[in-house]
Parts: sequence; C-alpha cells; structure tokens
Amino acid sequence: MAPFTGSVPVASVRWADRALAPSRRATLAKRQASTAAPAFGTALTEHMVSARWSAGPGWHNGEILPYQPLRIDPATVGLHYGQSVFEGLKAFRRPDGVPVLFRAADHGRRFQRSAARLAMPALPADDFVAALSALVRTDEAWVPHEENRSLYLRPLMFAADTSLALRPSTTYHFLAVAFVTESFFGSTAHPVSVWCGRDYIRAAPGGTGDIKCGGNYAPTYLAQQQAADHGCQQVIWLDAAERRWVEEMGGMNIFWVRREGGRDVLVTPPLTGTLLPGVTRDSILALAADLDLTCAQRPMSLDQWRAEAASGVITEAFACGTAAVLTPIDRVVTEDGAWDAGAGPPGTVCARLRDALVAAQHGVGPDRYGWLTPVR
Ligand SMILES: *Cc1c(COP(=O)(O)O)cnc(C)c1O
Repeated sequence: MAPFTGSVPVASVRWADRALAPSRRATLAKRQASTAAPAFGTALTEHMVSARWSAGPGWHNGEILPYQPLRIDPATVGLHYGQSVFEGLKAFRRPDGVPVLFRAADHGRRFQRSAARLAMPALPADDFVAALSALVRTDEAWVPHEENRSLYLRPLMFAADTSLALRPSTTYHFLAVAFVTESFFGSTAHPVSVWCGRDYIRAAPGGTGDIKCGGNYAPTYLAQQQAADHGCQQVIWLDAAERRWVEEMGGMNIFWVRREGGRDVLVTPPLTGTLLPGVTRDSILALAADLDLTCAQRPMSLDQWRAEAASGVITEAFACGTAAVLTPIDRVVTEDGAWDAGAGPPGTVCARLRDALVAAQHGVGPDRYGWLTPVR
C-alpha cells in the first residue's frame, strides 16, 4: 500500500508557527490543556490514519487525514457483530529528541493474528508500521518530551459492509488515532489491590482471549464493578475450565517474584491460548535475563499464590501492559478472605524491571533487540 511511504497530504502544521489559523488555535489550547495529566484517550492529536480494504483491490486509499468524525451507515456490520480488532502501542522520544515507535512490527503481527481469528484481511506489518510512522511524523509536536509521558497509538480495523448477513464483511476500514498519555513512574507507581470473584470469566479455550478484538473489555466491566464494590482497583482472571489457575490481571499480564534456592525467579503463566500474548510481557522476559533474573513460564494457582505469599516464597506480584507499564499488586481479595500479594514490600523487583523497560522504550543505550523504529 504505497501511500504511507511517500509524503503525507497534511504534514505542514508546526506548533512553533506564529501564524496559526483560528481552527488551529483550538487544538493548540487542547494540547496545552493536555499538559495537565491527561485522562487516558482524551488528549487526541490533530490527525488520523485511514485506509480501506475490499476484495479485489485489497488495501487502498491509505492516507493521513485531519482528525474528524466518521459518517457511518447504521447497518455497518462492524457495529452489530463485533467484527473489529485493535492494537495499542506507544511512541517515545530518544535522548536525541527523535521519536521512536516501540516494537511496532510486533504489534503489527499481533494485529494480523487478531484479524485472522475474526476472518478479517491481514494488513501487512510493513504497512502497519509505515502508517503509524506517518501519523507520528505528522503529529510529531505531540510526542511528549517528558520521561513519564508518551504518545499512545490506537490502530483499529472494523467490518465496513452495510449488510447484516451473518458472514464476514467484504470491505474493511483501518484507522489509527493517537493521544498523549501519562505512565506511572518511579514512586508514583501505586500498588493496586485485586478482586478475584467466581461470577465471570474472561477467556475460554477456543475463544478470543488471545487476540485484541472489539469484544475484549465490555464483558469485563461487571467484574470490574464487583472489584470496586470490594474496595479493589483491578480484577484477577482465573482459567475458565477449573477456576483455579491465575491467567491475567484486568487487561494486563501478571508476574510473581519467587525466592528459589536463594535467587529471585520471575514466574508468569504460559501462553495457553486463553491469555493475551502481551508485548510488554515478552519485553519483561527479555529484560529480566539482562538483570540476571531467572524467568519461568509456569502455571500458578490461586491457592499456591496465597500459600506462598504467606510462607514468604512469593515476595511480590505485579502486572504489565503497554498502557500502565508495570503495576505492583499489594493485596488480593476473594470470597474466602484477603491476603497480601507478596511477603516483601510491593514493587522492589518490579521497579528495577520498569526502569529497564522505560530505558529501552526511550532508546537510552543501544537498541539491543531491534525494538525501536525511529520516525524522521
Ligand atoms: C492488551 C492486553 C494485554 C497487554 O498487552 P501489551 O502488548 O503488553 O500491551 C494483556 N491482557 C489483555 C487482556 C490485553 O487486552
């Protein structure tokens, strides 16, 4: 899909420009407002990516447009049947000021797997990266310079046919928008308490728990409400079959630090098909080895977590994902009582890993794993 590789139609806006047109002043004000801790997904930039797919021509009309509402036919199939997938990744600034996308090709490949599961066409990973690079290049002024902020990129694709027949759409619309987001950082990474209830499940074998699709989060809201009712910020998800094995925390992957033979071992559940294969999870596994931490992908039952946190074997627990980076867990609440998530102070190993991840994301030091795509 050639259009993303050349110059983009709307690329001339510069915030340093003194002669801002009146309509631009509004967005400038919005950008300045966004410097006060923007709520997630509110400080949207000025442009967006749009591309179309139809059987026959395939991908076409890839372009950068001014950010704008869509005109959607009420019979658009993606609205009715959830044939829709998305991704979430971030752009940072290197110490030399150059914006970089973090692990964009990995997110592009996961976007393809999500699409394949819902019988949708694949967007080539190169086009995915080129489209997001074009968006970041166009809205470069929005990429924060502060270490605890980044530009969150939200690509999505939905079925665009206007027919409510029960079959895969023959046309699709790919979009990407971007917004400024604040990460938790240093001492401001507050530990969360988690609720583990019995009423709901997140993912079942053969389902869609290992992809990012439109239906990912809405079915979790009631469980999240129950967590809040129990004074907790997040939900722990157990496996659907036995309700025994811990799989994820909210929309994040989970880790424990276990004391094994005098060493700290980082344990995370294996990718059974009902866990989302997080890019952050994968980054942590790579960086842990650099920090001389042993890693193990092993199942962890709720019972084992409880017993080993009490006996001192599990020293801490934390969760990770692109949006919130790394979040320590301090307390677990269930219908059978509450306990401390680990025997040590929450967040010690977690903080070391977070620092290593933040350094890798910002290109501090060599890009050893080829994770960064510079945008210039
Ligand atoms: C997106 C997501 C994650 C984290 O994936 P990252 O690639 O690390 O952002 C974990 N669990 C669920 C359910 C998710 O949707």
